[in-house]
This record gives sequence, C-alpha cells and structure tokens, in this order.
Amino acid sequence: MEVYLSENAFIGLLVSTIEVYQRECFGILLGHRESERTLVDFVVPYQSAKRKFQEVHMDWQRGQRVEEAVHAASRWELVGDYHSHPMYGEKRGTTRLSNVDLDDFRDGGTSILVAINDGHRRQRWGYVKGGLIAGSINGYLIRLAAYHKNGNAVLRVPLVCPYAVGFTAKTKGPTPVEVRPE
Ligand SMILES: [Zn+2]
Repeated sequence: MEVYLSENAFIGLLVSTIEVYQRECFGILLGHRESERTLVDFVVPYQSAKRKFQEVHMDWQRGQRVEEAVHAASRWELVGDYHSHPMYGEKRGTTRLSNVDLDDFRDGGTSILVAINDGHRRQRWGYVKGGLIAGSINGYLIRLAAYHKNGNAVLRVPLVCPYAVGFTAKTKGPTPVEVRPE
C-alpha cells in the first residue's frame, strides 16, 4: 500500500498548510483507490480552520455531505483526509499522529499529515527515511507522511510524489522586461 500524490495535490497541501500557519489546516483528499495504492489527484481544504475534539461528530456529518457531493458531481472518490501539525511556540510540529488523530481515524481510511516549522535553512525536496517527503519553501520546513488504517492497525505507508522530488521553490522569477511605447 502506498499513497501517490499528483502535482496538484502536492501544491494544494503546501498552500493549505502555509495559508493558515500557525493554525492547523484540515481537508479532504480526492482521487482513486487501486488495490495496492491510493492516488490523490487533488485536495480540498475545509473552511473551518480549527478542529476541536467536540466537533468530531459535526465533522463526520460534514464528511458525509462532502462525500455525497463529490460522488454526485465528479468522477473522483473521497479517498481520505489531511491536516497539518504546525510549530507552536518552541514546540516543533511533527508528522506523528496524536491520540485524537488515532481516535478519529476511519476504518480503511487514509490520512496525510503535514508538519510545518519555521526554518531558515533551504532544503531540497526529496524522500526521507520512513516513506516521508520533506523540503523547504519560503522559510518553512515541511514534512509529509501518509497513514492507512488496516483492521485495527494504523500504519505509516510510503508517500510517492515524483513532482516533489528535486523540486526547488523559485526564489526569483525571470527578470521583467520593461514595456515601452512603440
Ligand atoms: Zn493531528
């Protein structure tokens, strides 16, 4: 079992995570399931910025509505969800699942966790040990991990994204050319 991210999904995860930093983002993964892998074509952020323990039930109802809408409107399937773990004060965000994350994990579900931390060091994007993808963008260090629930066990599974590997965020565009009247 592995989780394959498209270019759109990868960029969606980065934008969603950075947009609400230092709050936690939360959203859904759309794509297709195959027997040995989950293909994530794109992601849709939920507009509620913060998930609280008491809102789990509400999130479930919302999840049902979203699932029905996705099914009715597109050829995609709802294949999982994602959220971020931002740095908070001195406490660094990690890709480890919290107890609430484990309690919320749907049977047969797939989740992507995005850890985001301040970091001034530039890090080229690539795979790191344990099936994770990591790199830097605009002064943030980001790590992504995928998890899948099989029976009662939640396992970390390899995350694959050819687009992300070797990706270096642009720091400067091409030199603009001044437009002069003819
Ligand atoms: Zn979490």
